[in-house]
Formats: sequence, structure tokens, C-alpha cells
Amino acid sequence: MSKGNTPRDLASPKVLAVDPYVPGAQINEEGWIKLNTNECPFPPSPLVIDAAQKELDRITLYPDPPARKLRAKIASHWKKEPEAVIAGNGSDDILNCLIRVFSDESRKAGAMNPSYSLYPILAAANGTLWEDIPFETPFRLPVDAILERNFNLFFLTCPHAPSGVVFPIAEIERLADGMDGILVVDEAYGDFAGQSTISLLRKYPNLFITRSFSKSFGLAGLRIGYGVGSPEIVELLDRVRDSYNLDRIAQVAGIAALADWGYYEATIGKSTYIRDFYRNEIESLGWKVYPSQANFLFIRPETKAREHGEKTASSLFEFLKDRRILVRYFGSHALTRDFLRISIGDEDQMMVLWDTINEWLNNA
Ligand code: PMP
Repeated sequence: MSKGNTPRDLASPKVLAVDPYVPGAQINEEGWIKLNTNECPFPPSPLVIDAAQKELDRITLYPDPPARKLRAKIASHWKKEPEAVIAGNGSDDILNCLIRVFSDESRKAGAMNPSYSLYPILAAANGTLWEDIPFETPFRLPVDAILERNFNLFFLTCPHAPSGVVFPIAEIERLADGMDGILVVDEAYGDFAGQSTISLLRKYPNLFITRSFSKSFGLAGLRIGYGVGSPEIVELLDRVRDSYNLDRIAQVAGIAALADWGYYEATIGKSTYIRDFYRNEIESLGWKVYPSQANFLFIRPETKAREHGEKTASSLFEFLKDRRILVRYFGSHALTRDFLRISIGDEDQMMVLWDTINEWLNNA
């Protein structure tokens, strides 16, 4: 600093070029219906609370660095060997490790645009050569266009965000088969879908799947995610992971959650039932809604005069916000700016949402 350098002068140019990720608003006030970041509206299993509370007695001690018991539990849930699993501080942590291991300034990474906007930000912070692939037809997978680009690493969000659609397994398989690089299927919303690519892992050693405890297990605040794939990939990811990337409470909570899978099957079933019910309701208004297999709906609001577009979507967004209902609006992309993404809440929250949408409709 003696030469008059500021911290910015001293920072790596690749970091200066990063446009930081903007997460959905996290509101700490009471009285809001929060349907903007796809959290679970139902409480976690009582076994999770019990395990987390008991672990408080041991927080003077460091956690197990590789979270071995949690990995083993995840592995047995999917009938895999423990070496095929890595656990992370949310699945974001695993995505970051993947970027660090499999991409750099000459090893190209990419994803569909729009999809999860964190991927290109992680790539920028790593100085990774990055390429977006546009949708030729909204939310249909352009397999050949992806294959032509020779990616070293490609992130496929499935169920896709923000549309909620799933891509046919046969197309994902064609992608995994045709790619020389690593295909990551981000199944953060996978528990709400009728399909998973986990069964393809045996056939394609270049396939890697990331999953999360944030959505279906209601543990977004504890930050637990994982990746499943070949032990060779896991071994490479372990080289760059923070040594204590999961705290003690996260580790025992994850194990307890999987031990009570029946409880979660029931809450996931409730969410998907509510999702499908409101998808029908929204369609009965004549609005476009994608067939979501996630825990949110991506809807295109229309006025009574059947107008839709950016103005209409923002109008409903603001109307809901004024009434303390928070949903997500992505105004920066042509395929998203006419839509709102609404997380699936519990029955009461969704009823208030539905009444408020109808109130807007009568005024719009
Ligand atoms: N992938 C997608 C598509 C997501 O929407 C999210 C949540 N923002 C994540 C991954 C990360 O989830 P987490 O780090 O909470 O596991």
C-alpha cells in the first residue's frame, strides 16, 4: 500500500471483471409470504431438529473434513458406493469445485441461457473461457448446438430454472454420449421431478449430478448439497474443496433427513400436488404456464384485455409486493421478462396468492 495502490489496483483482473451474483431478496421481517427463492414451506423432519440440537454439545470440535458419514448415507440412498459422492456447502459449493477443476482460460465451460445465473459468475471468478447457448425454441434442449461447441464442462439445469421443465432423458443421454467433456446435470430441483439422470451414471463416466438439501429437505439455511458421479471426478473435486466445507450441524442434519425419507416423500408429494393444482388454476385463466417439475411455477400473466409482456409481468410483481407477497421477476432476458417465477408455498400461502392474483386481474 506504500506505493499508493488501492486494494482494487492489487486485485486480480478476473475478479474485477466479476459482476456479482444477485440472490433473491431474503426478508427478515414477519408478515411476508415469501415465494421468491424456492425454499420449502414445510418444516424439516423432527429427526433433523433433534440431531441438530444434540450436535450443539460438540461444536468446540472441528467437523469430519470429508463428511464421510453423510457421503455414505447419500450413497446408500442412491445405491452407489461412498467414493461416488462428495458433499458440499450447498450444491453451489460443488458447482464452484467443478468450475475450478474442469475449466480455465482454454478449457471452455458453458450452460443454457437462461438457466442458473450463478454458473457464469463462478466461471468469471475463475478466469474460465465461457459460452452461453441460447434456446432456439423456448426451453427445448438444442443437443446438436451444444455438441458442436466442444465444451470441456457443460452445466445442464434439469429440472430447468426458471421454467421448471425437464428435458427428455433420451436427449440428456445423447448429450452425455456425444460430449468429450464433463456433463453436469444440476438436479437442485430433482426431488420434485418424475425423473433423474442418476440411473445414467453407470453408462456415462463423464456425467456428474449435483443435488441439494435446500429445496426438498427444507434445509436451505444449513447449506447442504452434494454431487454424485465417478470416483475419479470426486477425487479431483476433493483436491480443491475447502477442507471443512460442511459444519457439524449440517452433517448430522443431512444424515437425519435421509433417515426420515418417508417424511420427505410426504412433503414433496404435498408440494407437487399444490404445484399441479395451481398450474391448472393459472391455465384456467388462459395464461401460459410451463409444465413444471420443480417446486415453482413460471407463469405469464395476462390482463383482462389479454395483454401480456414486460409491463404486465412487472405490474403483477409490484401488486403482489405491495401486499407483502414476494415472487421472482427476471427482467434481463427476452425469454423471462414476460413471466414471474413463483415458488410453491403451503396451502394457505397459495390461497392468499390466488386471491391476490384475482384481485389484480379485476383491476388490471
Ligand atoms: N442450482 C440451481 C438451479 C438453483 O436454483 C440453486 C438455488 N439457488 C442451486 C443450484 C444452489 O442450491 P444450494 O446451494 O442451496 O444447494
